[in-house]
Amino acid sequence: MPTETITTRCAIAGAGPAGMMLGFLLARAGVDVLVLEKHADFLRDFRGDTIHPSTLEVMHELGLLDDFLKRPHQKVHELTGLIGDDRVVLADFSHLPTHCHFIAFMPQWDFLDFLADHAKLYPRFQLRMVAEVDGLLKDGDKVVGLRAKTPEGEIEVRADLVIGADGRHSTVRDLARLEVEDFGAPMDALWLRLSKRPGDGSQSLGRIQAGRLFVMLDRGDYWQCAFVIPKGGFNDLRRQGLEAFRAAIVKLNPSLADRVQEIASWDDVKLLTVVVDRLKRWYRDGLLCIGDAAHAMSPVGGVGINLAIQDAVAAANVLAVPLREGPVSEELLRKVQARRQWPTEMMQWVQLQVQKRIISNVLIMTEQPTAPFAVKLLNRFPVLRRLPGRLIGMGFRPEHVHSPEAS
Ligand SMILES: Cc1cc2nc3c(=O)[nH]c(=O)nc-3n(C[C@H](O)[C@H](O)[C@H](O)COP(=O)(O)OP(=O)(O)OC[C@H]3O[C@@H](n4cnc5c(N)ncnc54)[C@H](O)[C@@H]3O)c2cc1C
Repeated sequence: MPTETITTRCAIAGAGPAGMMLGFLLARAGVDVLVLEKHADFLRDFRGDTIHPSTLEVMHELGLLDDFLKRPHQKVHELTGLIGDDRVVLADFSHLPTHCHFIAFMPQWDFLDFLADHAKLYPRFQLRMVAEVDGLLKDGDKVVGLRAKTPEGEIEVRADLVIGADGRHSTVRDLARLEVEDFGAPMDALWLRLSKRPGDGSQSLGRIQAGRLFVMLDRGDYWQCAFVIPKGGFNDLRRQGLEAFRAAIVKLNPSLADRVQEIASWDDVKLLTVVVDRLKRWYRDGLLCIGDAAHAMSPVGGVGINLAIQDAVAAANVLAVPLREGPVSEELLRKVQARRQWPTEMMQWVQLQVQKRIISNVLIMTEQPTAPFAVKLLNRFPVLRRLPGRLIGMGFRPEHVHSPEAS
């Protein structure tokens, strides 16, 4: 027996970027919404902290941009790579048709806190932390709510619409038996922090050397580093020992020799398993999946958060007004998928090409790489950098806020 039964218009599983943004937009439009998050706070392991120009444009459209940019962040106007000894500017954001010509690097928990703070200003918004969704309520084939475990006991939430925004290991999509297509990834990523020292410079940088790929993201007083390894290769690496791992990092970037001892044990290294997949159908009667729950993105280009936000904006554009009145039809849920499927497919296709043609090759390379001709062209003709800048910064179909703000 549930300890509590709640009735709402829309129940959202997961307070990541997708769930929080949709919760915010629906409450703003006057829809009763309850977001359930299994964790007690937003402070979790590194989950990507890039806020892209098209997400910043959404913040501008919502009138939140100035406030948002008051939170500590770093601005990255272009992406640079070091391929062997060749330094290449890979993407330039300075000409995008948006208010912000940069990616803002901000820890995801700050971004989510910001959304939560603003969403709570709307009386129809509720956020319940430490509430882990573990069941769906059904009436025949129709989903009519969900169940969640809380410290006070099991709760039942009756809702006209359930949203699965619970990330790439989505419980909701499993419970709804939505079919997943897995596209595979040749790599996993190890995340670690190293302190930033005076004289380091402030440029986030990707480094490619024989068999190695290393990314350093400027987080103000420390570097968030990603060491890319072949899929499933973490145990091999551990067997070689921590000293060998530290030496591999120093080989990639000798200036880190004075601080690799900060990696005191393997506990300081977090393995993130890379997954790229997509649901064939993102919805069923009474339920819709968005963000990573509908399509887990590769870390290539760091576009997952942006896509999750764009899904939320598109879903609110289609659903907010009809949801105010009552249940929404499957046809409207299909419309959300139809709107977001193409940009997702295109972005995943690009990511899979990069994984297959570049990352797989780099990971088995034994000789020092040089920048391929096409990449060298980016150095010779700076105008060409605008194309990857647009692709990464805005994606294939940036969304604009059309859902209304209720009076
Ligand atoms: C190695 C790696 C690096 C990445 N780097 C970047 C990057 O730099 N930039 C970028 O844009 N993207 C990056 N991504 C992808 C990015 O993290 C995701 O695409 C993005 O967070 C998706 O947002 P989301 O809201 O759909 O899901 P999530 O951010 O995963 O949020 C889902 C939420 O649901 C909660 N939840 C899960 N299950 C339940 C449940 N049963 N009940 C209640 N709550 C639940 C989770 O705790 C979580 O808060 C990276 C991914 C990987 C794997």
